[in-house]
Formats: sequence, C-alpha cells, structure tokens
Amino acid sequence: MKLYIVGDAEGIGGVVSPNQISNSEDWETETIRRQFTDEICAVCAGAFEGGVNEIYVNDFHGNGRNIIIERLPQQILLIRGEFRPTSGFDLLDESFSGIIFLGAHARTGSWASIIPHTYSEKVNFEIFGQPVGEFDILSLLAGEFKVPTILVSGDAKTIEQAKTNLPFTQMVTSKYALSHNAAICVHPKKICTELRNKTRIALKNLSSIEPPAIVPPIQLTINLKDIKFVEKVMWIPGLKRTKEDVFEFIGSDMRQIAHVIYGITILTS
Ligand SMILES: [Zn+2]
Repeated sequence: MKLYIVGDAEGIGGVVSPNQISNSEDWETETIRRQFTDEICAVCAGAFEGGVNEIYVNDFHGNGRNIIIERLPQQILLIRGEFRPTSGFDLLDESFSGIIFLGAHARTGSWASIIPHTYSEKVNFEIFGQPVGEFDILSLLAGEFKVPTILVSGDAKTIEQAKTNLPFTQMVTSKYALSHNAAICVHPKKICTELRNKTRIALKNLSSIEPPAIVPPIQLTINLKDIKFVEKVMWIPGLKRTKEDVFEFIGSDMRQIAHVIYGITILTS
C-alpha cells in the first residue's frame, strides 16, 4: 500500500509567524524544521502500523528544503526543492491508496487563521463560485486519480474549512488562531501522538473515505486583489476577463486548473 504526504509548514505545531518558516535567520527556524520533521515521522509511524509499505513525502513549503531528510524513516522517498514541473502533486497517480495534507493552512482572506493564503495571498481562487484553498485543489486533484484524502492537519480554521468538502477525513488541530500571527498552540508532542493515531485509524477505515469528485468542465474564477497584476495575467491565453480585476478559466480537469493557479501565483509573486 502506497501513501502520499504533502507537508506544508504553516499548520505545523508552534508556527504563528512567517519569520519562523521563511528560511530566514529567525532563531526558531531550526526548532520548526525539527517539529515539521517529527510530525512527518509520526504520520509515517501510523502509516506503517496501518499497513503502508511505501511513502512519498512532498516537502511543499517555500524552497522545498524544510524537512530534515536524515531523520526520516529509510523506507520513504522525499520530493524536495523548488520550481518543479508540478507543485504539491509531483508523481501523484492512481497507484496511491491515500493522501495526507500535513501542516495545511486556511484559504486566502480567512479570518482568525495563521498565515492564510491559496498559493498567493494576493489572489482569490474560486471553483464553481466557491473559494478554494490548497487542500481543496489538491484533494480534488487526488480525487481524479481516485485517491482519497485520509487526514488533514492545521489550525482550527483550516480544519473547519477542510471538513466542508472532506466529511470523512481524519482531522488534527495544531492550534487555535487568535489573529494571523498569534494562536493558542497544542503541545508539539501531543500533535505527533494524534497524527500517528489518526493516520492508523484512517487507514483501517480506508474503504469508507470517498475521494472528492468534480465534473468537468471546471469553472475557475481568478480574483486579483492588486490591480497591477491584471496586466500580467492578461498575457495568459485561455483566460476570459469578466470584470476589471476578475478572470475566468474553464478547465477540462483539475490538473489543468492546478497548472493555471500555479502559473498565476508565480506571475504575481
Ligand atoms: Zn507553506
């Protein structure tokens, strides 16, 4: 049985500020990298107990060099580094039994959540008129491969949002945000224990977790929060400008939608 883990940093235990996870000189950066790695290890332990024998870990945050590779179990494969052909779903296909979004964060513009954004904090993306976050986009993409999302971890707002489209998925709350940069944090070791237990439970109940489905053609709305990006986005063929700062794209599958979202993110960053 194969498992895919997408590891992001914003929802990791103890993270409340971009400085802790921006590959900067912040004194806590190394502490967070260790916690990020410990949380991945906890999920791997639960996965092995649940019958998984192959794990792909995607270091999905920033420069993609956050997870400390030598601390991971030897059975895993780690996808690391930046500017890959795809972001967040490299090598994902129908051979995986489940996907996990570890350390996820809430959608762009979310209230009471730590560092909310959907790839970019300057763009609002909607699918069929519903705001989407990275976990929505990637879980739909995995759904096209019939791969169910078995676990999501992140702050309480992220979990609240994820539950709306993933009602059967196990959830682990790492903190309760008081603002974009402050939270009541769950103890890091407790998060790891919960991640291990809930991964094992999810795998035991795998057949009851339906992958989310979406019927193409898929309507993507791109709402630019900064008017100077409009000129750049106008260069992309296939986008229809529906308002001064709003574009629409019709995609034939989620892979296409994800590529457009990632391209616009790079263009506007
Ligand atoms: Zn991130």
